Amino acid sequence: MRILVIGGGGREHAIVWSLAKSEKVEELLCAPGNAGIAELAECVPIAVDRFAELVQLAKDRRIDLVVVGPDDPLAAGIVDEFEAAGIPAFGPDRKAAEIEGSKIFMKNLLRKYNIPTARYESFTDFEQALAYLRSQPMPIVVKADGLAAGKGVTVAATLEEAEEALRGMMLGGVFGASGSQVVIEEFMTGQEMSILAFVDGETVRAMVPAQDHKTIFDGDKGPNTGGMGTYSPLPHISQALVDDAIVNIIEPTARAMVSEGRPFRGFLFAGLMLTPDGVKTVEFNARMGDPETQVVLPRLDTDLLDIIMAAMEGRLADIEIKWNDEAAVCVIVASEGYPGSYPKGRPISGLEAAKAQGALVFHAGTALKDGGLVTNGGRVLGIVGLGGDISEARAKAYEAVSAISFEGMQCRTDIALKALQSVE
Ligand code: ATP
Repeated sequence: MRILVIGGGGREHAIVWSLAKSEKVEELLCAPGNAGIAELAECVPIAVDRFAELVQLAKDRRIDLVVVGPDDPLAAGIVDEFEAAGIPAFGPDRKAAEIEGSKIFMKNLLRKYNIPTARYESFTDFEQALAYLRSQPMPIVVKADGLAAGKGVTVAATLEEAEEALRGMMLGGVFGASGSQVVIEEFMTGQEMSILAFVDGETVRAMVPAQDHKTIFDGDKGPNTGGMGTYSPLPHISQALVDDAIVNIIEPTARAMVSEGRPFRGFLFAGLMLTPDGVKTVEFNARMGDPETQVVLPRLDTDLLDIIMAAMEGRLADIEIKWNDEAAVCVIVASEGYPGSYPKGRPISGLEAAKAQGALVFHAGTALKDGGLVTNGGRVLGIVGLGGDISEARAKAYEAVSAISFEGMQCRTDIALKALQSVE
């Protein structure tokens, strides 16, 4: 088959890496891709928002299947565009992608179908939002309704902080149109867990769970990022809790989407919190997580293309999906200044040494300049160590990270430590 993957981050590198293992793949294209993806697929420099050009590319190259990575093009209806042109595309259509594109839509859906999530109210009017905020106990969580690259959420310890976030979103236009409407939500406590799933309408096939590290600094300090590291499995979280989340949150949500006339087909990502009152939903994403994908797909022993085709053909319930027992730990190395502004174009060295140690190196913000690899984004690389358990995988990941260097490189040193401390 001829496959086109849309996107160019670490998630897409992991998807391309997994697809490239399939014997059924004859041709693998990626738009726009990155320097790492270029080693496995033909990269075509078309940005993910250039729908007409992407559709034309798929027609010209007689693409049999498109796999969409990022959230923005999904929310803007890229799957609808491909399907209108008769090209099969794996991912939710615009209406189904709203589960991520609008937090108000998502929260209202969960409320309507009694699916566990934090108590909340949504607002389009600043004064009403402010009055509500002032009536609530602190801490509290203020969220921009629309997509904001993972940065539209403020967990506020004080009323001053909450008001400042609200003003920024609703009056200051910090997140543009995404922040003109907001959700104000009860603060929940507990461990977080991500469960990704293959979904086709009512059929949900969950992947192995993973845990992310959102903040830039060790000890969960500093501002939120797109994600600084992940690991899977979660030895300190019982299978019963994972099953609880699948049965009481993800499956009912898929059924709710069908009932609403928005059947979801694609990768569905549930962000969950293990609160003292049980597992609750933090968010849904309409795509794979980045960097969750980098630790989940290496644990998949079934051909990824077979699973996607089963979903495309309504056979998802019947396919056998195998996961291996290996542990995977991903450490993100980022540019100086990230998640704020950061320099680009700094030469990167040590990749071959890291790979020679057995680590998987997934590129995110990289580019080739004069034949050499340079930084080209905030999150630069995801280094994945694999091992018999988290401790071994973690050691391998950090050993490989120490082989890599570029000026101003930063990474967290405590990825997956929580899992080790909890089981000791
Ligand atoms: P991303 O797409 O990067 O995952 P997002 O912008 O969609 O992020 P959320 O996942 O809703 O935002 O929230 C980001 C983080 O904020 C969560 O992972 C969690 O740590 C924290 N958070 C969100 N809602 C709550 C809540 N109600 N109580 C406590 N913490 C919360």
